[in-house]
Amino acid sequence: MKRVGVIGGGQLAWMMADAAEKLGVELVVQTPSEYDPAVSIAKETIFALVDDATATEILAKKCDVITFENEFVNLQALSVLAQQGICFRPRLEALAPLLDKYHQRCYLRDLSLPVPQFFALDEVENIKSKIESLGFPAVLKSRRHGYDGQGTFIIPDFATFEQKLSYEITTKTLNQSFFLLEEFVPFERELAVVAARSVEGEIVTYPVVETQQEQQVCRRVIAPAQITPNQVAEIQAIAHTLLNSLEVVGIFGIELFLGADGKILVNEIAPRTHNSGHFSLDACETSQFEQHLRAVCGLPLGNPALQCAGAVMVNLLGYENSHSDYQSQRQQIAEIPQAHLHWYGKTESRPGRKLGHVTVLLDNENRDLGSAIAFGVGAAIANNIAHTIESIWYPR
Ligand code: ADP
Repeated sequence: MKRVGVIGGGQLAWMMADAAEKLGVELVVQTPSEYDPAVSIAKETIFALVDDATATEILAKKCDVITFENEFVNLQALSVLAQQGICFRPRLEALAPLLDKYHQRCYLRDLSLPVPQFFALDEVENIKSKIESLGFPAVLKSRRHGYDGQGTFIIPDFATFEQKLSYEITTKTLNQSFFLLEEFVPFERELAVVAARSVEGEIVTYPVVETQQEQQVCRRVIAPAQITPNQVAEIQAIAHTLLNSLEVVGIFGIELFLGADGKILVNEIAPRTHNSGHFSLDACETSQFEQHLRAVCGLPLGNPALQCAGAVMVNLLGYENSHSDYQSQRQQIAEIPQAHLHWYGKTESRPGRKLGHVTVLLDNENRDLGSAIAFGVGAAIANNIAHTIESIWYPR
């Protein structure tokens, strides 16, 4: 029996539960609140913030290996533990270039992977001329601790840039060195891929998916994405280059932009299981959560292939401040044919908060829709399913 320590107790840790049971693995979670989703499925919980390395030292004493569902950790403090022989998977060196978005962009560029043009605000003399060379709109990003679009701002002109920057700096007591600027990519679609690498260096990739964001938060995922075999191969090659270079053990999520000209750029790397891979729970032989546990436990990787023609995943995002459990909406969504609803059990809803998700499989009754997606004519049908779910979920 392996005991796996998980830093972070949100829904990504919660969704490891079934796989842990299947593999005979016990999960011990480090998370701050007794109301966090994974507390209910953990064998034991250490109640502490994810960046509390003293708590992680206690966690390590109870576990064979430590992994992450949240990457906002204190790497410097954890590296002392790694030197003492505590096993982190992925290893800390694989996280180090990724936690700061500017360092991440530099790392990808140095690997010759395609990224948007970017620069760090504190590394240029004349910001005005530099930002003008990118053109407007431009994108201002906090270098650290961004998620779900927090800290990502689309900037239409220089005056707005100055206002936004000074607002961020004064309200959050930051300085310029906390930000990067990059070109706005007029993407045609956003794509993502989840890939896993084993202790032996074997890599598997999940089907490339289309992700749809609203206000910078993922709303829907369609698997597989309607892209050409060459584009799939290009994205798989990006995943291989990245995971091999970082010597990753575990799952990584890679977000990409697809331009109207067919050009692919890497947007962001998540060093953990990823929202764009949730469909794998119901649609693939091996879910991303099982795959992650297999990798970190040193087991052979499983088959990541779709077991159906396709899938549509819709996030159920909070749209109000409430303590409701949304029973009636959940019931209606669960009655959609081939729908699999995952409700994270959060006790509090806030606008934009991820409360659950639903995946609709495209086979059996939907088989024709699934093959239509695979053959490139069914995006409208997938979007219709997403629309049906959202019209039940969100108030009119
Ligand atoms: P987070 O880390 O908060 O998820 P991201 O950098 O992934 O932030 O940005 C969130 C979303 O914002 C992206 O999915 C995309 O829709 C939009 N976005 C981010 N960067 C750019 C860019 N350079 N050009 C156009 N849109 C962008």
